[in-house]
Amino acid sequence: MSQDEAPRDFIREIIAKDVAAGTHEGRVHTRFPPEPNGYLHIGHAKSICLNFGIAAEFGGQCNLRFDDTNPETEDVDFVKAIQEDIRWLGFDWEDRLYFASDYFDRFHAAAVELITKGLAYVDDLSAEEIREYRGTLTEPGRNSPHRDRSVDENIDLFARMTKGEFKDGACVLRAKIDMASPNMNLRDPAIYRIRHASHYRSADKWCVYPMYDFAHELEDAFEEITHSICTLEFEHHRPVYDWVLDHVDGIFRSHQYEFARLNLSHTLTSKRKLRQLVDEGHVSGWDDPRMPTICGMRRRGYTPQSIRNFCKTIGVTKFNSLSEFALLEHSVRDDLNTISPRRMAVLRPLKVVITNYPEGQSEDLECANHPGDESMGTRAVPFSRELWIERGDFMEDPPKKFFRMGPGREVRFRYAYFITCHEFVKNDAGEVVELRCTYDPETKGGDAPDGRKVKGTIHWVSAAHALDAEIRLYDHLFSVEEPGKESGDFLTDINQSSLEVLKDAKLEPALADLTPGIAVQFERTGYFCADLVDHREGALVLNRTSTLRDTWSKIAKRK
Ligand code: ATP
Ligand code: MG
Repeated sequence: MSQDEAPRDFIREIIAKDVAAGTHEGRVHTRFPPEPNGYLHIGHAKSICLNFGIAAEFGGQCNLRFDDTNPETEDVDFVKAIQEDIRWLGFDWEDRLYFASDYFDRFHAAAVELITKGLAYVDDLSAEEIREYRGTLTEPGRNSPHRDRSVDENIDLFARMTKGEFKDGACVLRAKIDMASPNMNLRDPAIYRIRHASHYRSADKWCVYPMYDFAHELEDAFEEITHSICTLEFEHHRPVYDWVLDHVDGIFRSHQYEFARLNLSHTLTSKRKLRQLVDEGHVSGWDDPRMPTICGMRRRGYTPQSIRNFCKTIGVTKFNSLSEFALLEHSVRDDLNTISPRRMAVLRPLKVVITNYPEGQSEDLECANHPGDESMGTRAVPFSRELWIERGDFMEDPPKKFFRMGPGREVRFRYAYFITCHEFVKNDAGEVVELRCTYDPETKGGDAPDGRKVKGTIHWVSAAHALDAEIRLYDHLFSVEEPGKESGDFLTDINQSSLEVLKDAKLEPALADLTPGIAVQFERTGYFCADLVDHREGALVLNRTSTLRDTWSKIAKRK
């Protein structure tokens, strides 16, 4: 199995059987059908990996199709962003880019065909009346008084709807199926509605638009999709799709298979709710690094490989469940651990003065770029008399188990020397602002020739050579696993401390040429990347991609 190949799941089993049986001449053709009304999120990534992955594994093809039949919410900016996100994830639709809006003539012709066959009618009932007539789960619906209009009258009315003679909502075209069906979706579903709205592609050519339940299976049929894969919510719509395909002549017969959507803890996978977070300013935009959007994760420094690995790990089932965000983070760390160069940076700086190191002097120390991968080489890191360390690496009165700096204690400065703290200086507010230390020149590289040991190793940055940076630390966007579940309102579950901004971080000089969006590991503190939007020369802005601590193994054990 190649790195990206997924294990067999029920959908792959079905496809393997179809291929073996020569169904559709053994052809496998899938599609990913986003509606361009928002940005893609991690749930879509699951669907993308599944559809494109299956096509690749079975020597088939996967289309990218914009399901853009709704003039009010769709936009060309989303079309562009979605393509960028899919490419970034590592998938390619080659020349198979389709738009449902290119099929408007064909949808319309199919609707006219149903009318001609006596299988569709124009209904003037109001939306509310239609709902009333529809019945309930326990009671059958009632036929609309307009259900038995003649074919000619329906042809005429639909033509007038199409010409724009009626206002929005004045009437709809409904499929004549069965008002008593136990499946509510089959109780004469609306298939065309009036919308006097400009469409981002077809402009004002149309004022009638097909409903999703009518258009979707036709799109699959037009493109001769062999295996139409969607999420479980659409299972009870499949009979509508099959009915339409049964009654429109001369079209390909796709089969739909449903799988469980991805739900991820501490976040949301609903475009509508994500849009609300953006519109109401709870986040800085769709690409806020806390967002579960593909563009947010890219800005955060997640790799396409880690997202694909995550999708592979969660698998494909028929049962709705909640995946742990920690598993996604585990996947990110797992990938970054092997590929990220190591660097040193201090997030919350405390000054250290090495009193026995000559003033004005500095030296370059050779540091490995990756402790486990020599091929990544080394870099020179300057060491000098004044250094920065983490404030948290010093305690005025440390307990025995604290193996970092304290008065009279000796520690190793990573790749440099053994250093002993002798004094500390406080400001008027009583905060420690400087440590006065000495170094042992005999311990260059981090080992003592006399064999003496130190328990702690800490990272550092030379003050004279340090780059100043702003660092943004992120936590879960929501403080509960399932936002809104208990509270009833997901907004009340927003984690108020999901963003912490550190303004005076200090970076080693090799971090001057970061590629935005590509994470490196800061020794002991986590993975970080330069921000794709705000980072620039002279104003360095970094995002924390993830911490080093992996909570996944703990969670996995608990289960
Ligand atoms: P949302 O629920 O966020 O509004 P959607 O289903 O309306 O999403 P589409 O653009 O229609 O958004 O989705 C494109 C494809 O992605 C569909 O085939 C849909 O089934 C799939 N998809 C959407 N959300 C998820 C999810 N959470 N897990 C798996 N697949 C998903
Ligand atoms: Mg949808």
